[in-house]
Amino acid sequence: MKALMKTKPGHGNVEIVDIPEPVPGEGLVKIRVVYSGICATDLHSYEGLYAGTKPPVVLGHEFSGVVAETGPGVASLKPGDRVTSETTFTICGKCVFCKREEYNLCSNRTGIGSQVNGSFAEYMLAREQSVHKLPDSVSLLSAALTEPLACCVHGCLERTSISNGDVVLIMGPGPIGFLAGMVAASQGAVVILSGVSADEERLRTAIKLGIHRAVNQQEEDLAQVAREMTDGLGPSPVIECSGSVKALNMALQLAAKQADIVQMGLFAQQYNEIDTGAFFPKELRLVGSRTQKPSSWRTSIKLMEEGAVTPENLVTGVIPLEKWQDGFQEIRDRHGIKTVFQLSRE
Ligand SMILES: [Zn+2]
Ligand SMILES: [Zn+2]
Repeated sequence: MKALMKTKPGHGNVEIVDIPEPVPGEGLVKIRVVYSGICATDLHSYEGLYAGTKPPVVLGHEFSGVVAETGPGVASLKPGDRVTSETTFTICGKCVFCKREEYNLCSNRTGIGSQVNGSFAEYMLAREQSVHKLPDSVSLLSAALTEPLACCVHGCLERTSISNGDVVLIMGPGPIGFLAGMVAASQGAVVILSGVSADEERLRTAIKLGIHRAVNQQEEDLAQVAREMTDGLGPSPVIECSGSVKALNMALQLAAKQADIVQMGLFAQQYNEIDTGAFFPKELRLVGSRTQKPSSWRTSIKLMEEGAVTPENLVTGVIPLEKWQDGFQEIRDRHGIKTVFQLSRE
């Protein structure tokens, strides 16, 4: 079968290779991949900047498909089931985090698409416990984005809380910013999405996608918009999805007293100049949010099943694997919102 593989470390070294179809061992499920989303992490793997990627490995960790075959001991799934899967492939099972089903924090976890062959292939393996059967009302295209949606559920609903009537500020209109906005809106919040001129194309589509207010900070005064929409109190929480130090400092400045600022974006550098003076007077809380855990997946699938969040609305391109270079370029250019590979027919 054809697969898009990071063949060795360093910049580039990504190519389509021909490898044997995987055989499901004990407790494993062989999935025929239908759709697989391209994530900025895949681009970072290409550039050799993501240390988690252990080549040779097939990239891709956001996907949906159909069960093709089950290994010995698999009882809850059968061929033909429409599914998606968590990226967790192995865990230690013993640490305090594993005991609480917080696999995102297990130090000995391995994940699909970085340490174990991923979903940029016609077939892949997932462990039974990580696989989720899809309700009939959830399309395979939406389900392919369950992983990034679950990251946003974790950030917006597990690391902080959002209630009806909250005014939530999302910094960074990438796929994660949009999905976080959709999750916030599903809770009855008013959502402000902010970006810069390079994001203009994405910001223009925001209203159609259920975001209440999109702001290009280089053309509009975000502080003023935020004040006006909150009777001068400021937004709460703020979800920082850009990984820009400037954006975080803006978040610290604009956030309401006692607000949570959830850091979802990754910074390019380890040490940065942060406005630490903002914490004391406003009693702010800065919290990290790392990927997702089983509870985030359950909530995500429920939100999609109820029609509260429809991730397929973010898909601006469905392309064959052969066009992978175009797909990666779209991310570099901030063109479209989400590009998805189609690996086989629905
Ligand atoms: Zn991702
Ligand atoms: Zn563990």
